[in-house]
Amino acid sequence: MAFVDTFGRIHDDLRLSITDRCNLRCAYCMPHEPVWYPHEAILSFEEITRVARLAIGEGVGKLRVTGGEPLVRRDVASLIGSLAALPGVTDLSLTTNGVLLEPLAGELRSAGLRRVNVSLDTLDRARFARMSGRDRLPEVLRGLAAAAAAGIGPIKINAVLLRGENEHEAVDLVRFGRDHGYEVRFIEFMPLENDRSWDLGRVVGGSEVRRAIAAVWPIVRDPAGDPHAPASRFLFEDGSGAVGFIDSVTAPFCAACSRIRLTSDDSLYRASPARTWLCGSTAASAPIGLAQCSKPVSPVPPSVPLSPSCASARRKWSELSDDQR
Ligand code: SF4
Repeated sequence: MAFVDTFGRIHDDLRLSITDRCNLRCAYCMPHEPVWYPHEAILSFEEITRVARLAIGEGVGKLRVTGGEPLVRRDVASLIGSLAALPGVTDLSLTTNGVLLEPLAGELRSAGLRRVNVSLDTLDRARFARMSGRDRLPEVLRGLAAAAAAGIGPIKINAVLLRGENEHEAVDLVRFGRDHGYEVRFIEFMPLENDRSWDLGRVVGGSEVRRAIAAVWPIVRDPAGDPHAPASRFLFEDGSGAVGFIDSVTAPFCAACSRIRLTSDDSLYRASPARTWLCGSTAASAPIGLAQCSKPVSPVPPSVPLSPSCASARRKWSELSDDQR
């Protein structure tokens, strides 16, 4: 059995959003005064585990726990334990902003968590507070160290670059990752439900970031890269790890998408690109995008429409002249 959608794509990767709530207010994601789902609308851990068990029966193997910020929900380790115990799970990971990771890392690892992606857009404390609305960078850095000490890994860092804010930090973030054994992935700024904050002029394209990094550390595309993975992976020629790029605006990859998403208020979506990597908040996932995918995966099914926000972002990008990109 397999989850095959109307475009013929096979979905074997289930994202479980366990809350819409978050302890940060990243300007590209969350309004300052968000309206949360009522508690009674949120799925219980038993219900989430049941959906995961049923999905595994349909061929899903990879489970990722996301949010909002999943660690703001009490006793996440018990859910991780239930999911890890499900027969047929091939991978169990978590996406978090890292603020609450330090005190929970050991418990999550003992419960069966294997991998973690931590969102970190800057190493500058004042800029972190400005971009996320909260002064919590020290906790995030301690959370990363605690996850490594607990044996959770590989540890990946998800970074969103905004032109005029932190685009000059790309090399510093990669250096930080290389020094600590974390794999950094750069996510292009995508239109989200906090749409009024999206501006094409603030998108830093993946190719621009690759040029900046390659000028310091030569990189080559990973020949073993997973064509269905959201990130295109590049290896450092000096052998010390890899760096990833999620070019949601400049090279959407919806045609190869293998993800489905369960929202915390009980909706099952085919994952829209942007939400997957920004801690996975899930509003507004719509029909999946069509893309001139940069990855050599199966032919693009012509009937896969781009979600409205993807279409507009893609159109605006394609209308730019080369020197504007
Ligand atoms: S991007 Fe992640 S950490 Fe930031 S506000 Fe959204 S859900 Fe929270």
